[in-house]
Amino acid sequence: MQKNFSKRIHNLTPSGTIGTQVEVSRRIAAGLPVVNLSLGEPDFATPRNVSRKAVEAIKSGYTHYTPVSGIKPLRELIAKKLFEDNGVSYTPDEIIVGVGTKQILYAVFQTLCEEGDEVLIPTPVWSTYVEQARLAGASVKLVPLRAPFEFTARDVRKHISPATKVIVINTPSNPTGAVISERELKKIARIAVRENIFVISDEIYEKILYEKKHCSIASFGEDIKRLTITVNGFSKAYAMTGWRIGYAAASKEIITALDILSGQMTFGTCSISQYAALEALRGTSVSVDKMRAEFRRRRDFVCRELSKIEGISFTRPNGAFYVLLDVGKLLGGTYKTSEAWTRALLDSEGVAAVAGEAFFAPGYVRLSFSAGMGELKKGVAKISSFISNQ
Ligand code: PLP
Repeated sequence: MQKNFSKRIHNLTPSGTIGTQVEVSRRIAAGLPVVNLSLGEPDFATPRNVSRKAVEAIKSGYTHYTPVSGIKPLRELIAKKLFEDNGVSYTPDEIIVGVGTKQILYAVFQTLCEEGDEVLIPTPVWSTYVEQARLAGASVKLVPLRAPFEFTARDVRKHISPATKVIVINTPSNPTGAVISERELKKIARIAVRENIFVISDEIYEKILYEKKHCSIASFGEDIKRLTITVNGFSKAYAMTGWRIGYAAASKEIITALDILSGQMTFGTCSISQYAALEALRGTSVSVDKMRAEFRRRRDFVCRELSKIEGISFTRPNGAFYVLLDVGKLLGGTYKTSEAWTRALLDSEGVAAVAGEAFFAPGYVRLSFSAGMGELKKGVAKISSFISNQ
């Protein structure tokens, strides 16, 4: 990279998951076979009614700038969804729609954080929070969790300091699939209120939950709601990753700040995607239910098969579509790191996974079961033979 670029860009760590996808595409273009278990997106098509609505939107001429915070009918429906599904009451002007959850999160960190602030982030974790907090000037306090990776109030108590400005929670979690229990969430909420700390609650996997019912931290009362920025999107629940549409719900003050920032940054998100999202929320939950059932089937299959392989261990995920494998026992000989192990798995077996280093979890490897059953069967068999030949 050119030396005279900003320190900000020099200090930025590229996304490990995106890096893996680039490598997978390179191999496919070179004609090499790949079993791709690294993807962070559902392999299902966007529901047909949603895509049809987008075509209608184009035909109707909804192809211009929209309000920065998003079209009002969409914000109204998001408010309705948050009330009905999550038990939190927001008005449409307490909601902003953006270019995917990722952009919304960027704007949130820029709005809340600066030099001198500390952000508490449990690991293993999706690395974007860490990079975005640092881009905003904050320092990050990583909280290492051990299997089964549930973030608890005890972790919060142990790691907060007078500089703590934000706690990040992501339940269900990428990459662990762990779900924070209602009891722990309540305790975390009490600490946040007592210490006046903001909570960024990324709930993008809320619909991909296998055992329990999703619980939103903002639903515990006005005190915690005032401090919470609930972030969510359409990528995972509606297989709409390419439409780039996400949202945040928070106090009017926070949303106004996000609106001003987005006004200088994006001028809102794609009008057509917004009409599609409107339809996603209006439609029935049949597609979501079908997708969840299929993910559950795949999770059960993957967990059953992986548990037969010696040398690795994992926690059965309660949500999302990832299994985080502990490959620590396989390291130290030929492969010193999980990154080297994952690389060798790709080179010798053609199986793409994401090394734990991308999630601040060295010694681990993330497998995604968002790939179809055929791919999963092939992938697990290849992982098994890779390990037994190691
Ligand atoms: N939050 C988490 C935890 C994710 O895993 C991802 C994508 O992988 C996102 C947010 C980004 O979602 P979006 O496509 O809405 O930007």
